[in-house]
Amino acid sequence: MERTFIMLKPDAVQRGLIGQIIARFEAKGLKLVGMKLKRVDRALAEAHYAEHRGKGFFEPTVNYIMSSPVVAMVWEGKNAVAAARELMGATNPAAAAPGSVRGSYGIDISRNVVHGSDSPASAEREIGLYFRPEEVL
Ligand code: ATP
Ligand code: MG
Repeated sequence: MERTFIMLKPDAVQRGLIGQIIARFEAKGLKLVGMKLKRVDRALAEAHYAEHRGKGFFEPTVNYIMSSPVVAMVWEGKNAVAAARELMGATNPAAAAPGSVRGSYGIDISRNVVHGSDSPASAEREIGLYFRPEEVL
């Protein structure tokens, strides 16, 4: 079964949206197989966003996910990567479908509530950054 890595970013945690967002993933039929509240240090943040190194938004984005705790999760299901991206909506909340997570809860591309892996290969890499194998059920 396919797995994806989902992170509730600092804005989601600070605004008290954890439960509401998790409810959407549960309602979709995906299965939660790993979860932790976590502070992200610089090494992990830079590894997470490594593909964006050199871009103008790299440093602010790295600093942002280090700024306060995040919820790191692994969700499992058929086509979990694409299903989660669909639930999340477009990167820029201003362009995200109204019923999506970003469309519902976000307004700013640099505070876009949630991260989700963009491919099964990215999912494997990101799960490995945040979880030890025995932490994923
Ligand atoms: P994520 O990886 O967070 O799930 P994504 O895959 O939809 O989002 P990416 O292109 O991987 O989008 O960008 C990673 C993150 O960097 C975005 O979620 C956003 O917070 C930030 N970002 C991307 N593009 C911009 C931009 N043009 N200006 C500011 N921040 C940006
Ligand atoms: Mg991405």
